[in-house]
Amino acid sequence: MNRRAIFWYWLLLFVPTLLVGAAAFRLIRHEGERMAVQARSAALDRVRAIADNVRLTVSAVEDELGESLRRIPPDALAETLPAWEKDNPLVRNVFVWDAQRGLLLPSQPNGWTAEERRFVSRYDALFSGRIPWLAAAAETNGLVRGPARAGGAVASRFQNAKSSSESNRPSDFVRQVEQMRSSGRQMAAQALPQGANGQSQAPAWQGGWIPWFAENRLHLLGWVRRDAKSPVYGMELELASLLSRLMTVFPSAVSDGVVYALLDDAGGVVCQVGGLDIKPDARPDMSVTLAPYLPHWSVGVFLAGGGMLNVGGRSFVLLAGLLLAIVVVAILAGGSLLTWQAHRHMADALRKTSFVSNISHELKTPLTSIRMYAELLSEGRVSDAGKMKKYLQVIAVESQRLTRLVNNVLDFSRLEQGKKKYRRESLDCAEFIRQFVETHRLRLGEAGLAVRVELPEAPAWMLFDRDALEQVLLNLVDNVIKYAAEGGELLIALERQQDHCRLSVMDLGPGIPPPHRARIFEKFYRVDDSLTARQPGSGLGLSIARRLLRDLGGDLVFEPREGGGSCFVAHLPCGEAEEGQKGMTAIDYN
Ligand code: ADP
Repeated sequence: MNRRAIFWYWLLLFVPTLLVGAAAFRLIRHEGERMAVQARSAALDRVRAIADNVRLTVSAVEDELGESLRRIPPDALAETLPAWEKDNPLVRNVFVWDAQRGLLLPSQPNGWTAEERRFVSRYDALFSGRIPWLAAAAETNGLVRGPARAGGAVASRFQNAKSSSESNRPSDFVRQVEQMRSSGRQMAAQALPQGANGQSQAPAWQGGWIPWFAENRLHLLGWVRRDAKSPVYGMELELASLLSRLMTVFPSAVSDGVVYALLDDAGGVVCQVGGLDIKPDARPDMSVTLAPYLPHWSVGVFLAGGGMLNVGGRSFVLLAGLLLAIVVVAILAGGSLLTWQAHRHMADALRKTSFVSNISHELKTPLTSIRMYAELLSEGRVSDAGKMKKYLQVIAVESQRLTRLVNNVLDFSRLEQGKKKYRRESLDCAEFIRQFVETHRLRLGEAGLAVRVELPEAPAWMLFDRDALEQVLLNLVDNVIKYAAEGGELLIALERQQDHCRLSVMDLGPGIPPPHRARIFEKFYRVDDSLTARQPGSGLGLSIARRLLRDLGGDLVFEPREGGGSCFVAHLPCGEAEEGQKGMTAIDYN
């Protein structure tokens, strides 16, 4: 699988996932909107039901009071009406008015109270005869609400009902209830005793309820008269008492974030259910007016966050959108991870292939030299003792190189399989380095490297695996011979630090370019330049050295060297140097 194939594979995953995700999100939004519309219409139905109940309650109260008014005997008006005003919480003011004699009640001779004075001046237009009573009640025979139930000034205000309201008319149900009540009254009237000539003695009742706007608020005035010539009498409704009855028609429990409220003609909240704080200038999300029962009043619903979507739809969209996003991200992340892994495996496979060819090359070169010199010597064609010695040295050096290579490969496979065993023993690291340089001195000199060793004067004891330390040093020094010989210098320094020893292997070679510094410790990794290409190698040396050190509690890092070259630092676990043991000695091998 090449890079292009991986790219296409990723694209094939990415594009459909995004498309499916986008389509699913659209569906979720659509569903959310549908839920919002459903919730909206449910809330509207509820508001309508509350409004109908309010209308029915007002109508029942008006009906009840109207009936009671009609039942008062004409000669008992003067006693009964004031008694009502005193005892009935629904009655605020009472009156009796005669077209000829004017206002009979509240009676002037006793002197009006302040409330009575306000009452009389409120309805001056009616009591002075400017607005005829009948104009307010087209339907006669009882207190029946009709289309022309109010006088001119009042009726014109009816037409200014709020435009934002959902409905201005009572439902069919309320009208049916009214009709039933009206026909009930008619049947009761027909059941009254008949006169001697068989004519009905039922009076020709006139009356109605007048919604009256004065002093910036609504008042309801009920009036009645037995016939066109009789005095008009009636009462003004105590709205506060009516409201306490209206409270009972509001639901006792509502869902969170929803408020149902009764709003007066100025849009102020008269009463509400639901736990939201409603600002004075807030307008309801939906409202149903209560005209003609309470003109300009309405029942409204307020929703938290300013919309129905917040209540059901938005939380659904949020939750489903979040789940969808998690699924899409998981698919993309999983796909990307798989693609990345495929890419890594591809790179690994490539490195392994080049490793095999590198190893074969590394094995072939010393084997060819060994075979060639061994054949020369065995055929007895070399008689010169000096030459013979030189050939034997080459065979020895090449076989040592072979041994190092085979050791590296063996170590690598043991480390990979986790089978590498360590034998920790107490060793003086300074002495170990001295011996190591002594052993390889010849080889280093032949490579043209001047070697300098800086060691502490006192022994640096540590518990370490001798073979592992040798392997680490061999790999580092071999690299200097392979890649940095032209720098002409190798510096090996051991310093004792507070809790560890720092073993540095430094050269003046080309160094390692920054992008490769972290990667040279990966297995099979080789810097891709002409210098590395010229030298045989497996890309295992540094990775094995680091693994060995880490397994034994140390580490191997690369540090760039000021003035060029490389510096590989092995951190080794060793004890702290005692006072007076911090002196250093330097040995130069030229
Ligand atoms: P190998 O030497 O077999 O290629 P290593 O793991 O020992 O593998 O080294 C990895 C790479 O690091 C080498 O291929 C080389 O490019 C670079 N390298 C290591 N040591 C040095 C050094 N002293 N100077 C320059 N480059 C080095």
